Amino acid sequence: MQTYIANVTLFDGRTVRTKQGVLVQGERIAWVGAHARAPGAAKAARGLDGTGRTLSPGLIDCHVHLAFDGLADFAGEAERMTPPLAAVKATVNARKHLAAGVTTVRDLGGPGGACIDVGRAIDDGVIAGPRVLAAGCALTITGGHGHNVAFAREVDGADAVRKAVREEIKRGATAIKIVATGGVLTPGIGATFTAFTREELAAAVDEAHSWGRPVAAHAIGAEGILGAVRAGVDSIEHCNHVSPQIAREMKERGTYRSPTLCALRGIVDNPKQVPAYAVEKGRAVEAASRESHARAVKAGILHVCGTDAGTPFNPHGSAPKELAYMVEWGMTPFAAMRAGTANGADLLRRPDVGRVEAGKLADLVLYAENPVDDITAAAKPLKVWKSGRPA
Ligand SMILES: [Zn+2]
Repeated sequence: MQTYIANVTLFDGRTVRTKQGVLVQGERIAWVGAHARAPGAAKAARGLDGTGRTLSPGLIDCHVHLAFDGLADFAGEAERMTPPLAAVKATVNARKHLAAGVTTVRDLGGPGGACIDVGRAIDDGVIAGPRVLAAGCALTITGGHGHNVAFAREVDGADAVRKAVREEIKRGATAIKIVATGGVLTPGIGATFTAFTREELAAAVDEAHSWGRPVAAHAIGAEGILGAVRAGVDSIEHCNHVSPQIAREMKERGTYRSPTLCALRGIVDNPKQVPAYAVEKGRAVEAASRESHARAVKAGILHVCGTDAGTPFNPHGSAPKELAYMVEWGMTPFAAMRAGTANGADLLRRPDVGRVEAGKLADLVLYAENPVDDITAAAKPLKVWKSGRPA
């Protein structure tokens, strides 16, 4: 099947051009160029008039928890969690991303590899959903952030960390998640507590990279962030404390920052429903975050879009909202759209998505307005394609 999108404003992941044409053949993009110079095959294809509209690569959400629904009582939901229930929830939640124009997600922690298998079922065409990359279970220290919920496993010592990385990869993990500091949603541990030794971090990174898998480090406090950056992780998730030194080192190393503002706002904007310990920690983290975000953007650190969907009041399909928050806190809409598309593909090591170019998979979103002019336009996709098929 061939589809030709005619005379559209194109944000290709890197630049914006007007009066473009995009030809889709099967699951891939066959041709991109000036509409006036469209090849003969475009005339034979089923046409879609893109006049006045904007076409973008499908969005990439680099941080979700498909097994969790975004309920106020995160710990209560986790208590009732089993891998089969996780798979059912992930099946339902995955679709919400696709409807929001998100064609690729990365799951950074769920029980028993359930989200890895949901990703396989989507790849096999059993169920509809975005492309799911998944870390399996996150790795945390004994008593560390997430130990009380079903998304992390406790592991201590460099050898044990290395073995856990191998086990997650054997199960099908396409990324590794390490919990390098305390967290907002775990009682009894400060959000900025530094977890894992230098040797443990080095073992995780060395092993994951030898399998070609990126490492995502959950890190809130400055010491934990710097330790993870120096250990060579690929992305810092949350990254709420950005000192001038951290900004410099992340920029130099090309470490990605995933600020997960939806997670923070979900907690601090709902103080009556979210447990008090989480609200208190969330407020302290937010106080540091605004300045950190501005500093990180100014320093030119590479950003990606990560919602942390599944945490309290943070429903699935919120990537457009995350992009809007990133802009609200001092990023241009253009930089936010890059973060949500091309940068995400680069971080996830998926050169076949995140850009509208000949040869890439046809993951596309058509918008009525241009999100590069006004980021709120990203919340209203008119049409979504994943691998060339209308979603
Ligand atoms: Zn998370």
